[in-house]
Amino acid sequence: MSHAAELDAYWMPFTANRQFKQAPRLIAKAAGMHFWTPEGREILDGIAGLWCVNAGHARPRIVQAIQAQAAELDFAPPFNMGHPLAFTLADRLAQIAPAGLDRVFFTNSGSESVETALKMALAYHRLRGEGQRTRLIGRERGYHGVNFGGISVGGMVANRKMFGNLLAGVDHIRHTHDPERNAYSRGQPAHGAELADDLERLIALHDASTIAAVIVEPVAGSTGVLIPPVGYLQRLREICTRHGILLIFDEVISGFGRTGAPFAAQRFGVTPDLMTVAKGLSNGCVPMGAVFASRALHDTFMTGPDHAIEFFHGYTYSGHPLACAAALGTLDTYAEEGLLTRGAALEPIWTEALHSLRGLPHVIDIRTIGLVAGIELAPRPGEPTRRAYDAFMDCWHQGVLVRTTGDTIALSPPLIIEERHIAQIVEAIGTALRRLA
Ligand code: PLP
Repeated sequence: MSHAAELDAYWMPFTANRQFKQAPRLIAKAAGMHFWTPEGREILDGIAGLWCVNAGHARPRIVQAIQAQAAELDFAPPFNMGHPLAFTLADRLAQIAPAGLDRVFFTNSGSESVETALKMALAYHRLRGEGQRTRLIGRERGYHGVNFGGISVGGMVANRKMFGNLLAGVDHIRHTHDPERNAYSRGQPAHGAELADDLERLIALHDASTIAAVIVEPVAGSTGVLIPPVGYLQRLREICTRHGILLIFDEVISGFGRTGAPFAAQRFGVTPDLMTVAKGLSNGCVPMGAVFASRALHDTFMTGPDHAIEFFHGYTYSGHPLACAAALGTLDTYAEEGLLTRGAALEPIWTEALHSLRGLPHVIDIRTIGLVAGIELAPRPGEPTRRAYDAFMDCWHQGVLVRTTGDTIALSPPLIIEERHIAQIVEAIGTALRRLA
């Protein structure tokens, strides 16, 4: 598999294809906290695959659930038909959801969850006779997947600039990254609640009556681990409520225990109207996403004639039986091992360990919450992102998988992590930083 021609056909996602194919990094096997390469080299997983394998790899309950389900019911049409696991799963999810967000719509990815939530928001206003509320507000440095709605409300230039005009009627509030005031914060940064008032600026510009929803990640991952300042989300909630604007939390990475609570909404004590999830929902084992909707929003749809489809939206694989089985096995594993709150118990150890990297060469900020960390490096002059990439490669050669976004090293290990693994991750990063140019 290292012969160049054998690698040609696969056009890899979000990858420098030509660079990768010159020196491929292949993963052939996984269990618990580890991956193995085809040659059998062990790699500690510092990023839960891609923020998704929260219960660790190849967990028996999940594996067995998927195997048994494949033999029992491989597929059932999701439109006008149902299968029992989808109902059971939605009910189980409603039990751990933030209070009131107890209606669940299934998708197959975070990107699809975002599109679904945006459409729900627009349709909701229309059903209530406020069809002029079509404007969607995102945030600078937001990441909401890669479909057209998601990149429109998203705030990452690389995701947007190649693809034309995108959705009309979208605007963005300011991001919350403020290293001058908040560098090296542990947990929520102290400064910046007032940045939520930027929404008032957009309301003054466009008028609230034109705005359907605001979408933010409670903790932004893909744009460098941005943690909400104390009071910021509360203020956003308060402004949205006051102006009849729906608040959407994109919890694709912050959900399922990542911040030390089942959802970041619970950790921060702020409940949105809609919440998008994916990744940890099925432990990354079978693709699956979902949108949690408030009872009030859901019930707004349930008013026309009984025989009419209330929401013209859905996917062939919404609530796929294998995904439902994987997700139920995942929820069982989370419950049995207390994983949805384990991040809170480990947070003090994680925080201490990560902040011990302060003062090492190139480090300009460290941000931590739950079992997430961002270690921001000074960019190499004229070569943004290269220093972080070199750190990633150095860690890979040391047997630790980290991730980088821009010049930030982002960590989000499986929630089964032990202290010795934390020490190994920190040691590898420290070693890399000391020898990096
Ligand atoms: N939303 C957020 C906050 C994400 O972090 C991601 C992926 O990282 C997505 C949406 C997109 O999810 P997917 O890649 O499953 O489409």
